[in-house]
Amino acid sequence: KSGFISIIGRPNVGKSTFLNRVIGQKIAIMSDKPQTTRNKIQGVLTREHSQMIFIDTPGIHKPKHKLGEFMIKVSKDTLREVDLIMFMVNAEEELGKGDEFILELLQGTETPVFLIINKIDQIHPDEIIRIIETYKEKLPFAEIIPISALQGNNVENLLETIEKYL
Ligand code: GDP
Ligand code: MG
Repeated sequence: KSGFISIIGRPNVGKSTFLNRVIGQKIAIMSDKPQTTRNKIQGVLTREHSQMIFIDTPGIHKPKHKLGEFMIKVSKDTLREVDLIMFMVNAEEELGKGDEFILELLQGTETPVFLIINKIDQIHPDEIIRIIETYKEKLPFAEIIPISALQGNNVENLLETIEKYL
């Protein structure tokens, strides 16, 4: 089982921390390889029964910049081509403009979208329930998974859940 996964989310939500935790220094090795598509491979995680290829989605991490129609199309094409989208949000922060921008791009996509609520080590467990309620009505998420990319909480469960979709 293998597949392409796009990790999206506004700056500082913990995307790199997550990749570093699951892939570590292999990221640097991979990023030197010539790419066959316009999408940059950020790292490859090879597990006993699966391979996950994490790619970058151009344009999507800069919600403050006004994106041209072409860039929006590139982002949407990428999101259509991957097998799974991880939309990561910061549990410490309210749903903001950057998140709304991404939610809009995700509207109508047929690719399964996981909502990853990161930094749960920083909040009270009751807060997680409130965050889930807030996001649930925005998009039909395939899965909603709270994690701490920094401390590793629930990360193995996330990887096992991803495997079911590959
Ligand atoms: P990116 O911009 O989405 O790639 O975010 P980074 O991975 O660079 O993380 C931004 C900051 O958040 C860094 O200081 C990380 O150490 C911190 N961070 C990331 N994940 C967690 C987490 O699960 N818990 C806590 N407390 N901090 C985190
Ligand atoms: Mg980063």
